[in-house]
Amino acid sequence: MLTRARKKLATYQRFYRIISSNNVPGLPRLLSNSADQDWSISKTSEMALLSLQGKYHPRNYTDFDKDLAILIYELGGGGALHALNKAPSMLPGRHTIANIRWQHRLRISVGEVTISSILENIEILFKDDIEVGEIQRVGITLSQDEIAGDGRPCYLPETDEIGGLCEHAISELDTHKVGCDLESIKAAARAVREGRVHVGKEFSVAAFSRHAESDYGAKPVLLMPTCKQGSWESSAQLLQKLIQAWKLSPYGEAKHGPLLSIASDGDGTRRAALYLICMHRKLGPDDPIYKFLSDLVGLNLYTGEGGLTMDFDYKYLFKRLCTLLCSKEGILVNDVVVNKALLAQWLERLSGHDWSDEIIHALLNPKDAQDVGRAIKLLWLIADLRDIDTSEFLPSERNTHRAISILGEMFDALLQPFINPDLSLSSQIQSLVKFAHLACALFIKHDGDFISHQLYGDLQCML
Ligand SMILES: [Zn+2]
Repeated sequence: MLTRARKKLATYQRFYRIISSNNVPGLPRLLSNSADQDWSISKTSEMALLSLQGKYHPRNYTDFDKDLAILIYELGGGGALHALNKAPSMLPGRHTIANIRWQHRLRISVGEVTISSILENIEILFKDDIEVGEIQRVGITLSQDEIAGDGRPCYLPETDEIGGLCEHAISELDTHKVGCDLESIKAAARAVREGRVHVGKEFSVAAFSRHAESDYGAKPVLLMPTCKQGSWESSAQLLQKLIQAWKLSPYGEAKHGPLLSIASDGDGTRRAALYLICMHRKLGPDDPIYKFLSDLVGLNLYTGEGGLTMDFDYKYLFKRLCTLLCSKEGILVNDVVVNKALLAQWLERLSGHDWSDEIIHALLNPKDAQDVGRAIKLLWLIADLRDIDTSEFLPSERNTHRAISILGEMFDALLQPFINPDLSLSSQIQSLVKFAHLACALFIKHDGDFISHQLYGDLQCML
């Protein structure tokens, strides 16, 4: 009896030594297999040793393991995932996650974008909802922007096509199909060398997103290499195809809800297309929201079909306002040009800040024009200038301060809804309406010397 107990204890001690002194790869999964399959302690020790020698790979991955592997792959690429696959964490490898990464199955557009390719991508991303239970129909936003790509052509085996060429390839090449010889590849190479067709260094991406509490991420349904030299007409056609596809797909409007707005960055070509699609029809008494909106003085009641409106990313707009303030031209308010030089003098007067020259310089001379945090900080500080002590100001200084204060009041009304989580929905709307009226008054007074027509239009559309 005692001998048996001693032997058993020794087995447990051996097991403990193996799992505590070594980095056994995939240990949690190995133990879970041991429990599921009723292994003895000796067998579990043997399997742990095999795992250490790289001869056993427990593959009963949890959802968390898979999600983590996908995240690592997205952020760090194949190299990072390979390292973690070989490390004690033994995350799933690239081949394992390929089957669960839906996005991998998305179709890249080659040649003319077809509604059928968009429909296919809508089905891939919107058919199998990860959310359990009834899917709520909500408002939908379509957004479009460009992302940087590798800038190289590729072969798409599913369709036997050359991918990665810009939209010029539609008119310049007879076919994208590769076929049995090298002729079409040679023709494509010739067209690229002669500059008639470009290798797309960017991808135009269009995505639908749900205005819902869950599952609201933007899901891309169009990936198209581009050289960004397209016309506004082709941009409008593309948007129409996306709108049609959402309407037609059983996994689009029917399942998830109607398209309410189209969002864009400040791209000029797309802006023209957006005006064509989203501002051609005035709301009338037959529209259900007319009775709520018709009394609002100054509100533009022009929309697209079904009340479709356009939207511009507010972060881009904040950055563009800052770029203007940091330029020599600046923003004209009541005959005062609020620009970089003026702000450098006035920001120093704000108390409670460490205003060394470098800090002001960094704020007004951004190294990175994409820094949204800095943009918000600058607009915010201009709003703070309203409250400085003016009792000892000269009349000319008072005049300047009044102009800066009007601008500060306007920026405050614009920013509050985006940075103050305590505002109610009504207060947010009031604040934005205040911004709209201040901006409108200054634009009527100073026209393009206040802010550019495009920026003014984009701001009001965003509201
Ligand atoms: Zn091109």
